[in-house]
Amino acid sequence: MRFTPLASSSAGNAYIVDDGESRILLECGLTFKKLQKLSGFNLRVAGCLVTHEHGDHAKCYPQLLKNGVRVYATEGTRDALEEPLLDVMERDGADAYKEFLVGSFRVLPFRTFHDAREPVGFLIQSRADGDKLAFATDTVNLAYQFPGVGVIAIECNHSDYLVKRIAELPKDKVKHLKRASNTHMSLSRAYDFILNQRDKSWLREVWLLHLSDAFSDEETFRQAMEFAVSETDGRVTVRVAPKEISV
Ligand SMILES: [Zn+2]
Repeated sequence: MRFTPLASSSAGNAYIVDDGESRILLECGLTFKKLQKLSGFNLRVAGCLVTHEHGDHAKCYPQLLKNGVRVYATEGTRDALEEPLLDVMERDGADAYKEFLVGSFRVLPFRTFHDAREPVGFLIQSRADGDKLAFATDTVNLAYQFPGVGVIAIECNHSDYLVKRIAELPKDKVKHLKRASNTHMSLSRAYDFILNQRDKSWLREVWLLHLSDAFSDEETFRQAMEFAVSETDGRVTVRVAPKEISV
């Protein structure tokens, strides 16, 4: 299974998951034109999974639907978007979801914590190669265990050090940062999440997603996260998803 970010920031998110048998799109928070361009005009996907209704995650779902791509979202996200044509991820009790199939992938949504109606992340397993991906963005925290995953793609939005220096920042940035620190994952929380994964035996890649423009530092974040996986003796590669891939 291959995880490829096309765009990752508050300006827009889109990621491709490909296991050689089929491809799925995670998020469509870009204009359709830009999504086409970044995907190399290859939007032949088995479906698109959307985590929540914010524009930087769901912007071009209408054009995907028009082009015959099935778009999956929770009931809350569908209601927030007022779009009856979305495929709804079925619940299994109050906070759990039923697993469903998209192309060659098995998808299990899980609850995330964000200022949206019913946000989720995804545990995705390829039925072609058995490989697993845990994907979570736009969540202030996350405490689940994902044993046996090969790839973890997790939001790492801002640094707490910058939050502490809030008094030195210009007013417009303070407002933005206050919202971000209540709704998005900080470096220290992402670090704890990775560090606390008890089973890292299959883990080979950690992707850091959705870095804030003003309140993050790519190299510092990457190095910090390498500490969280240091027990794996270099087997795990830590990568920062680019704000937008160059094409
Ligand atoms: Zn959001």
